[in-house]
Amino acid sequence: MIKLTFHGAAGTVTGSQHLIEVNGKRLLLDCGLYQGKRKEAFERNRQLPFDPASLDAVVLSHAHIDHSGNLPTLAKHGFKGDITCTPATRDLCAAMLLDSAHIQEKDVEFVNRRRARQGQNLFEPLYTQPDALEVMRSFATLSYDRPREILPGVHLTLIDAGHMLGSATVILDIEEQAERRQLRLVFSGDIGKKNAPIIRDPVPVRDGADVLIMESTYGNRLHPADEDTERELERIINDTYRRGGCIIIPAFAVGRTQTIVYSLHRLYNKRDIPAVPIFVDSPLATDVTSVFRLHQETYDEEMRQFLLTDDDQNPFGFQTLRYTRSVEESKALNFLREPAIIISASGMMENGRVLHHLRNRISDPRTTVIIVGWQAPDTLGRRLVEGAEKVRIFGEEIENRAHVETLLGFSGHADRNGLLEWAGAMEKKPARTFLVHGEPEAASALADALKAETGFSAVDIPVLHQSFEV
Ligand SMILES: [Zn+2]
Ligand SMILES: [Zn+2]
Repeated sequence: MIKLTFHGAAGTVTGSQHLIEVNGKRLLLDCGLYQGKRKEAFERNRQLPFDPASLDAVVLSHAHIDHSGNLPTLAKHGFKGDITCTPATRDLCAAMLLDSAHIQEKDVEFVNRRRARQGQNLFEPLYTQPDALEVMRSFATLSYDRPREILPGVHLTLIDAGHMLGSATVILDIEEQAERRQLRLVFSGDIGKKNAPIIRDPVPVRDGADVLIMESTYGNRLHPADEDTERELERIINDTYRRGGCIIIPAFAVGRTQTIVYSLHRLYNKRDIPAVPIFVDSPLATDVTSVFRLHQETYDEEMRQFLLTDDDQNPFGFQTLRYTRSVEESKALNFLREPAIIISASGMMENGRVLHHLRNRISDPRTTVIIVGWQAPDTLGRRLVEGAEKVRIFGEEIENRAHVETLLGFSGHADRNGLLEWAGAMEKKPARTFLVHGEPEAASALADALKAETGFSAVDIPVLHQSFEV
């Protein structure tokens, strides 16, 4: 008997954590942070629903914080096993978990100032920078397509999920000892879009699976064509430039920022956009960009060609682009009076430097905010998508007069058709499928489509903490 328990990203996108109990061992797939309403997130991320010391191993699909962000909490509470992932994911985590720890420390400082005034007891950060450094010691890397036995009778293979640098689909070939049966369990991780820039296309699991855990982020949506997205970006930049406004692009420092920088580089090379100054205002994005430059083994053919022919020989660097690291450089951007493009994190506008830029410019009708990623409910990003006229930033109510544009073509996620194509490529259809990492409407739309169009049977959408025996 193999037991699966869905401890996160169940009925929602963030907080990916799936526990597998097999051959008397406990294996965790991903250990992500839950993102959403502040209080709820605070409590959920703190109270892990299992004892970290009881886990034997972790497999990490990719570095995004909603998959990796709670790993330091495991180490802090006694986890001693290996965390297996690709080399690029490991290197991204080295930068990202340290940054996340810094955010956790700052967050608690802010909450504690208020609690101290009210005479309440003070909180500890979820984890600290030393915790993040400590957990990096547990990483064991595994390149794509190199099977390894990670627990007795459990063979792990990682294949390219095409979602971000180093992202993997997790294949577990299990010899179940008690019942002497062979079973293949596949966890899709986040599935990327075909023809996305920089990285390779997602690799489907051609021979199929017995049990499938699959993401469903855009199970009910279709993305516009890639060509249209770059044209749209060009149009938005030119319109804003003519108005004399600035463009703010809130973006995940990891993945989305590099994709957009590469797009801007191509538009700039073709002279399709004016030579406006472009700032990547995020120390994390700056660090992560060097990880992107290091892992050329993950690039697609187009990116390799670009490297050979580009004058700058750097997809992530060109004349009008600056990476700003210090707080002083970041603050100086507030005084820019000429059009500029500012790319800054966090992607859902919950924290980070982008908040300062929004506070400074969102009431100016010349400003454009470009939304380039999925926005969780109850985040500032979601309120902007929904057209809020007033928003709260740093406790202050501010009028939103900016143009808000949504460009989901930069998404790192396959849309409905991409997901169906990935699943449909499986020769052996899974006997059980569990849909995770999607809001309820998206997951149920995908469940219906999988049954109707790819012939899958028994598709479940687990609720939080629900267990299944397979
Ligand atoms: Zn992801
Ligand atoms: Zn994700």
